[in-house]
Amino acid sequence: MLKSAPAYSFDLPGSGNGKHIIILGGGLAGMASAYELTKLGYKCTILEARDRAGGRCWSVRNGSTNQETGRPAITAKFDDGLYFNAGPSRIPHHHELTLHYCKELGVPIQVYNNVNEGAYYFAEGKGPLSNKKIRAREVHNDVRGYMAELLSKSIDNGALDAALTKEDTQKVLEYLAAEGGLDIDKLYKASARRGYAESPGAGNLPGKIGEAHKLADFIQSGLLDPDFYNVAEYTYELQMTMFQAVGGMDMIAKALQKQVSASLKLGAEVTNITNLSEGVRVTYKDAVGEHQLQGDICICTIPLPVLSNINNNFSGEVSRAIDYITYNQTGKIGLQFKRRFWEEDDHIYGGITHTNNDLTQIFYPSYDYLGKKGILIGYYNFNEKAQRTGELSYADREKLALEKGRLIHPQYDAEFERSFSVSWHKTRYNMGGWAVYSGETRKNQYPALLKPDGNVYFAGEHLTYLNAWMAGAFESARSVVSSIHGRVTGQQLVYPTTK
Ligand SMILES: Cc1cc2nc3c(=O)[nH]c(=O)nc-3n(C[C@H](O)[C@H](O)[C@H](O)COP(=O)(O)OP(=O)(O)OC[C@H]3O[C@@H](n4cnc5c(N)ncnc54)[C@H](O)[C@@H]3O)c2cc1C
Repeated sequence: MLKSAPAYSFDLPGSGNGKHIIILGGGLAGMASAYELTKLGYKCTILEARDRAGGRCWSVRNGSTNQETGRPAITAKFDDGLYFNAGPSRIPHHHELTLHYCKELGVPIQVYNNVNEGAYYFAEGKGPLSNKKIRAREVHNDVRGYMAELLSKSIDNGALDAALTKEDTQKVLEYLAAEGGLDIDKLYKASARRGYAESPGAGNLPGKIGEAHKLADFIQSGLLDPDFYNVAEYTYELQMTMFQAVGGMDMIAKALQKQVSASLKLGAEVTNITNLSEGVRVTYKDAVGEHQLQGDICICTIPLPVLSNINNNFSGEVSRAIDYITYNQTGKIGLQFKRRFWEEDDHIYGGITHTNNDLTQIFYPSYDYLGKKGILIGYYNFNEKAQRTGELSYADREKLALEKGRLIHPQYDAEFERSFSVSWHKTRYNMGGWAVYSGETRKNQYPALLKPDGNVYFAGEHLTYLNAWMAGAFESARSVVSSIHGRVTGQQLVYPTTK
């Protein structure tokens, strides 16, 4: 009859008695592992190649630097106080562990506005609605209305007679009328839901409702294409309420770093991992030279595309998994503007504009509303689009973002100041956005990395079903800590222990 403990409680019995755990990578998975292991009495050393901790949990602000392969290192020159999240920008309300660590580490959070019916769709092409910015509320309400109209007519014609009683049919028709905004003749008519052409006001200003677009125009303009039509609320992870860390998502990484700073070596690039009969030996290089470090157990959180080029004596099964599991291509550009025209002129406060061109998405900032300046994420793209964009020079990425962006926001010309772009699949020490499994690799390769190879354990977002989420890094950290602690103390500990 015991009430189950909350998902975040993690009170493992027994002590690690000072056993030395070497942790490769100081991202969220590596640092959360060290944080929990230290509480359990282990000695930890985290080797992190970059001169900053946090890995993908990274916010770009004035002075931030990045290194992509085959390119010079770049430094951001934004105004103080402005930033954009190059990696994670959103925390779903059901990612309990991410929220738990925010609370435990004292990281304030604020609502991230992921759903904004006032943002736009923009379809480049030849259709009647192409090359126009259309408010999301117009697209969603018109489409919903027409679909309800179609269904309503087909029900009325008796097409669904077999499935419904007469009373049920009537109820469904009433629901469809309400859902789609249909009139008494079951026809979709524009209403205030889809916004006003002229806003209502005082005195003699009742407002004028905008005209509905035609269903055929949506179809011909590609706005109903399944890879374009987008209702964020249809995706579990993107449903409101969503959160972000106040001041930049890397505040989570910085708070963790504070807790594990005694164990953390920055600028320490791992070059060799050797399983020994007793323990593990890791070679790394730093500004001084090459070093070897021996420990009892190792946790490797290095992303697989990077790990695949590091010398090791792993089993064939593990080596194959490291090589076969793929990561996506993804990139973002931050554009600093001297005026928040998207708020002042377009009344867009947070949220996302969707495009079918290489930009894919424009993210409006969910902080500093009504402030003076701001940074938009000028594109956030994936796969082939990110691949193409990533091949461009930094200057050409900026040119692309401005050229395509000004089709939607002509204010770009007068207000743009500077940019900073990140192509994650070209970024040293990541070489990919996040792990993308096929049915095949999930079945055949994933399991090999869930168990230790000798004295080396693997962790990171790639070892979960929460790929692309910080929650994956945290869940996997706890999972690997449970396995190690179980082995060291001779207990059967299976994570999650409390769910
Ligand atoms: C564009 C983008 C958007 C995202 N959006 C969201 C979001 O909105 N919400 C969310 O929750 N999550 C999001 N994520 C996912 C989230 O950022 C990751 O799941 C999480 O940060 C991964 O943590 P990790 O510790 O597993 O890996 P990483 O953060 O990659 O950590 C691995 C560490 O290993 C280090 N390393 C690499 N090679 C070596 C070496 N040779 N020697 C030593 N160290 C090395 C790296 O420098 C890095 O610090 C996003 C990610 C990206 C890229």
